[in-house]
Amino acid sequence: MENIAYLDNAASSPMRPEALEAMFAQANGHYANPSSIHALGQAARKTLEKSRGEVAALMGADASEVVFTSGATEANNLAIRGVIEPILDAGGPVHAVTTALEHASVLKTFEAMEKRGLSLTVVQPGSDGIVRADDVLDAVRDETAIVSVIAASNEIGTLQPIEAIRKGLDARFRGSDMKKPLFHVDAVQAVVSVEMDMRSVRADLFTISAHKIGGPKGVGALGVRKGVKLAPILTGGGHEGGARSGTENAAGIAGFGAAASALRSKRADEVARYVGLRKRLLAGLPPGAHPLIAEGVPVVPHIVSIECPGKENDWIVLLLSREGVMAAAGSACKSGSREASSVVRALGLDDARARSVIRASLGFASEEKDADAFGGALKKILP
Ligand code: PMP
Repeated sequence: MENIAYLDNAASSPMRPEALEAMFAQANGHYANPSSIHALGQAARKTLEKSRGEVAALMGADASEVVFTSGATEANNLAIRGVIEPILDAGGPVHAVTTALEHASVLKTFEAMEKRGLSLTVVQPGSDGIVRADDVLDAVRDETAIVSVIAASNEIGTLQPIEAIRKGLDARFRGSDMKKPLFHVDAVQAVVSVEMDMRSVRADLFTISAHKIGGPKGVGALGVRKGVKLAPILTGGGHEGGARSGTENAAGIAGFGAAASALRSKRADEVARYVGLRKRLLAGLPPGAHPLIAEGVPVVPHIVSIECPGKENDWIVLLLSREGVMAAAGSACKSGSREASSVVRALGLDDARARSVIRASLGFASEEKDADAFGGALKKILP
């Protein structure tokens, strides 16, 4: 759309042309069920497996370690429920560690498991928006089955000490008879602008989503390290190696694969652009707005969190929209709830301050004029 500054890429990015093309080709030419044994079914299977390879390459996983899901929400549910539920079913005590910065698909899932008997520790971040690796490690107990940490916050963009947590877990359980907890990383936002993958962070479980990287909505993947056993949450025909039954979303997966390949080859250039656009956007803020996260704190460059003291974020976002600027008041998944973001509150902000925080998020299609439009529109709204 002409004259629209789309700065809500962390909620959903536009589709990459490569992804649109791949989806059309799959839906149009390979409509057969990829599980059918006839020639057309096998042709559909072949392209699906090619896409799996592309997604695996982005995830730093073997193709056999990729489980396609309906999105990151389902991937996070599968990671958590798949580990916790069998232990609860067997009547065993079970504990999990996570952080207050997680996406609702992680936190709410753990809370649902708590009602069934899970013991849960939620580690709080510092006022800089980062959890301390030691706080996460200190929370681990003998019966901890899973440690789940978001790599980059979708709301405030801060990067979490994933490598330090991995190293700490390894050190703590080295030479021990105790069962090492599985390490789950929600990397949905991190992979957009960080060269991070399942191999580099040695995650056991690793979540990504197609519609944050220029692919379609409704497709995601959970990387499951070889040897890790998960109880499926969807039972049926035993697709995806039994981890996730249901005919694969073949066109969606084709778009996911193409987006993953495009991201892999273009990410370094895109990140360099995000860094410049972020600077430009911040330089254009009016006096009534300032960055929420202090300079020097590690963040993904594509997510900019801005505090507008004394104002309500929903109101600002609606007025920005009238000016043609699409931004967000916290996480899109929770917008409309009128509640202050629990992630922003976790930084120590009171309710009113937390409700004054807006998010601008860049994507592969963002341009300088979008960054300029944001500051220009905000100037009209804020004194
Ligand atoms: N985790 C994070 C960090 C996210 O940003 C999102 C999307 N807002 C999700 C999980 C859920 O992704 P999906 O929309 O694919 O279910």
